[in-house]
Amino acid sequence: MNKFRLHLGWMVAAALWSALATGARGADAPPSEAVFARQANRLARDYFAKTGKADRTPLEVEALGTFFAAKEIYDAGRFAECRDRLDAFWKRRPMGKVEIWTNVDWPTGYVPLQMLTECVHARTSKDWFQGKPEPWRMTAVLIGKTVGSKEVTGDLLELGDSKIAEQEVQRATAFFGEYLKAITKGRLQLEVRVVSLNNWSPPQFKEGDSFVSAVEKALPPEIRRTTDCWWMMLSTTNPIIGFWGGTLVEDDGRQHFLGGSEWVQSNQFRKGPPSDQEYQTGVSNWFHHEFYHYLFHAFPEFNLEPVEHAWWYRDKWPADFVGYYETDYFLEGLHKRIHAKGDPPIHVRLKYKPPDAPAAPQPAR
Ligand SMILES: [Zn+2]
Repeated sequence: MNKFRLHLGWMVAAALWSALATGARGADAPPSEAVFARQANRLARDYFAKTGKADRTPLEVEALGTFFAAKEIYDAGRFAECRDRLDAFWKRRPMGKVEIWTNVDWPTGYVPLQMLTECVHARTSKDWFQGKPEPWRMTAVLIGKTVGSKEVTGDLLELGDSKIAEQEVQRATAFFGEYLKAITKGRLQLEVRVVSLNNWSPPQFKEGDSFVSAVEKALPPEIRRTTDCWWMMLSTTNPIIGFWGGTLVEDDGRQHFLGGSEWVQSNQFRKGPPSDQEYQTGVSNWFHHEFYHYLFHAFPEFNLEPVEHAWWYRDKWPADFVGYYETDYFLEGLHKRIHAKGDPPIHVRLKYKPPDAPAAPQPAR
């Protein structure tokens, strides 16, 4: 009898403990806001300590931590829970309200939070495409030999066409790829391949010659005709011909991301390639910015970049655009123009059609 009572006692204690641990809402309920906030705080502080920028404001810790913690939930496929966390965050810290996000040139965590919010709202939308997405093929080209300091390890260009370069390019583009899929409601899937032109020497250039055209011509025709967008990375220590860095849209309508290899290299705080978190907060911002130059260019009817970086001139924004930062402008352009009125839509407009392509049926909208 005593033995039985003891056993029962343990069962009661175990049930009580379980109820307390799950906030008495059952084992499947998400952790409480306080548990989430603790996890967010821990992730942000670890990140700042590792990247050598420990002295951060509470808002920066909260914003970046919320991104990291929400991204973990997103990666686990718990989209509704992730959406609720982000919506709660934006309620506390409204998007585009400069009096909240002020005192920093560029609010830490702001852009990745906006990107993830877009992703999770698309993933939980009834408009999410249930069919197989079409590939959007990015060819990452590593150009030239690095002759610079050997103290910088993990230099992508030194790695040439090795498996590590391939792996780093895949990791660097992963979050941007998810974002691209989200803004096409699941219809375009980024596919990345890496080609190396490590032993290529550029021809002599005259004024007006296109360096990227010369790069393209040096690549096999099959690669050229199956590329929807280019990411061209040049050794930063090589002589550079003309403008380099940012976005270029050539006559055939394809995007070139130029430069950006600095995001995939070592820095003074760590040796070797960046962590996934650094890729999500660093190079993804860069892709995002460059991509919007291109996206707005692909929808000329909306005139969203009438002068270069039109979004930097707040008093000249379209009257119906709200917000303050450039990425607020991007979101407004995406939602109020491109999603609302763009025809054909993004996934049709961004696909490259080589001149010799047979007339194909229009992809599903
Ligand atoms: Zn720009």
